Amino acid sequence: MSIDTRSDAESIVSKYSSIDTLNSDESCEPQECQYLESEWSRLTSLLQSLQGQEVHRYLQRVLKKKEIRSIRALSQLLPAHRFPTAGIIHCVRCHHEYYPAHQTPKSCQLYHSPRLVDIVAQDQTGTTFLCHGCNQKFYLKDIWKFTKEHQSLAGYCFQGYHTDDAFSVQYRPLGIAKTCQDNGCIEFYI
Ligand SMILES: [Zn+2]
Ligand SMILES: [Zn+2]
Ligand SMILES: [Zn+2]
Repeated sequence: MSIDTRSDAESIVSKYSSIDTLNSDESCEPQECQYLESEWSRLTSLLQSLQGQEVHRYLQRVLKKKEIRSIRALSQLLPAHRFPTAGIIHCVRCHHEYYPAHQTPKSCQLYHSPRLVDIVAQDQTGTTFLCHGCNQKFYLKDIWKFTKEHQSLAGYCFQGYHTDDAFSVQYRPLGIAKTCQDNGCIEFYI
């Protein structure tokens, strides 16, 4: 890992030093908020005084213990989107990471979304559905309403190669692909 933690930390500190209340979509109980406020102050001045290498070595020691809690915490702090491993790319269609060399024409797969699926016809044995994302019709036996549980029974809305080129993906209101922003990936790029 060759992150210059010091300059990263400094830019984060200067970016957020003007924020005096907690800034998040998540809520916290008053007592926890108070604790987080004081932790924020402590961490802000800690990062100002620490050398990048000290942080780096400490994180390596923490990781070595392979504890679930610290893996979770570090994965949130250093997400794959923000710190991609060499060779791994983020697909802007299905939002999975992939190695370009390992992909096949079926690597990138998206199921039909219930929000795009309407009922076309029904008989005693099942229902014909139409997906407006891909204009495919499919028949499901003993299923009367299409929900998330049934997605894996109905084939794919999209199947193809992963891509990191947003211009090659059709993001439409009635389409299956979501942008990284709508999918919540984009915060990692900031
Ligand atoms: Zn579809
Ligand atoms: Zn993909
Ligand atoms: Zn994404």
